[in-house]
Amino acid sequence: MTSTDTVLNALGHLIDARIVTDGPTFAVTNPKTGKVIGDSPDATHEMLEEAMAAATRAQPAWYGLGEDGRREVLRRMATVLAERGDEVAAIYELEKGTKHSAGEVRFAPMFAQQLIDTPLPVDVLEDNDERTVRVVRKPVGVVAAITPWNAPVLIGVEKLFAALAVGNSVVLKPSPFTPLATLKLGEIWQDVVPPGVVNVLAGGDELGAAMVNHPATRMVTFTGSVAAGRKIAAAAGSQLKNVVLELGGNDAAIVLPDVDVAAVAPRIVAAAFMGSGQVCAAVKRLYVHESIYEDMVAALAESASRLVAAPDDEGGTMAPMTTKPQYDRVRTLLDDAVAHGAKVVTGGTVPPSDGYFLPATILTHVAPGMRVVDEEQFGPVLPVLSFTDIDDAVAQANATEYGLNGSVWTKDIEAGEAIAARLEAGTVWINHHVEVAPHIPFGGVKQSGIGRSGGVQGADAYAELQTQYLYKNTGRVTAS
Ligand code: NAD
Repeated sequence: MTSTDTVLNALGHLIDARIVTDGPTFAVTNPKTGKVIGDSPDATHEMLEEAMAAATRAQPAWYGLGEDGRREVLRRMATVLAERGDEVAAIYELEKGTKHSAGEVRFAPMFAQQLIDTPLPVDVLEDNDERTVRVVRKPVGVVAAITPWNAPVLIGVEKLFAALAVGNSVVLKPSPFTPLATLKLGEIWQDVVPPGVVNVLAGGDELGAAMVNHPATRMVTFTGSVAAGRKIAAAAGSQLKNVVLELGGNDAAIVLPDVDVAAVAPRIVAAAFMGSGQVCAAVKRLYVHESIYEDMVAALAESASRLVAAPDDEGGTMAPMTTKPQYDRVRTLLDDAVAHGAKVVTGGTVPPSDGYFLPATILTHVAPGMRVVDEEQFGPVLPVLSFTDIDDAVAQANATEYGLNGSVWTKDIEAGEAIAARLEAGTVWINHHVEVAPHIPFGGVKQSGIGRSGGVQGADAYAELQTQYLYKNTGRVTAS
């Protein structure tokens, strides 16, 4: 057994400040090689009960620490994450199959710090001689936090720090495809956070469903697919539990004829192929004005052809698909598009590899009705459509059940603003795409989600608002 195996197989759930390594396990694969790298513990029903009981016990005292006391602990968590980030990154690199994933781990402490530095708002609605009326943020209670495989470290940190800052306790579950880095987070925080305040359990979809349905759970914060989000909304709705759902997207970017093609094309390539397209906020459909369509396609192809889908120790610059099902799905969408007349301008040919690598692929001759246009591909295949009439481009951009983000690219900022405002999306950009920050709300409309993370709106999602009327006199003089 190598030392890496030893490290991976020693990882356990964090339950009430104990690392629990016994019980059943499931295999975790490195997508770079397609080979199993180790076993993750698989939480049992009893372990979930223990974690929920611990979170329920711990929450009142955690809230009782007060905002400053909680922030002190959160600051120590962020410091430990920064200090031991290399340990987390080493594990994350194995389950993601790429060194590029280290960037997410490096960014996470800064993200956490900004959440720590944002005080909980108190809204004073009236303040006069007679009374003060204000709205304060109180915790919801036990929060079930469920994360996807594409960015479990950053999304997990965002959910944890936002929930903990308000005074909630948390049971966190990562995706069964990438559970190990999140288990490592639990380990590095074992002695930093009071027992039961943070619990980390690894397991499959059934564990997630059991967390949602557990009577101790008062709120669910979920990031993942629309399909799972609907099930969670249904389960939580029947029990009137609070939810934040950050779901899939099919982001459109609209490029107007006045842009500098050579400058814009590489930026769109970066926004479409970052993380090999496995980013919720990536550009997933591109609408280009017909007058610059040919030039833009050529510039996109030139830029995309420089991306290398291969292991990073062999000069690769693009990560593999994180999971085999996702690899198969993106290949299916690509094959389907070609079968329906799409033309591959660059990419398309899948290199021989044991890993799940797919090349950056630009497709033309694509149209609504093709799966690669209508569905979220979540991979490195970008359909490029042409438009003549901006109203038609906006209508096509909005002709989807998704509504996460959208962008407009133009030198005419006023025109861009007017068009962007017509996009049915939770976030819009002019001359940019893909950006998340803890102080800025992020989330989707339509099937892309419910609620927001980030900013005051994000903090409110983890809080119950309490309206407080404070009368300054105990007696009231009334005219008789
Ligand atoms: P997924 O829905 O399959 O799984 C996400 C998590 O939910 C996993 O931990 C899984 O075990 C759990 N889960 C699955 N079914 C469940 C159920 N019924 N009840 C409770 N938990 C359940 O998603 P995925 O394939 O891991 O992630 C990819 C998706 O996530 C993409 O659609 C992507 O767009 C989306 N995503 C959205 C955002 C955003 O901020 N909007 C960010 C990242 C990823």
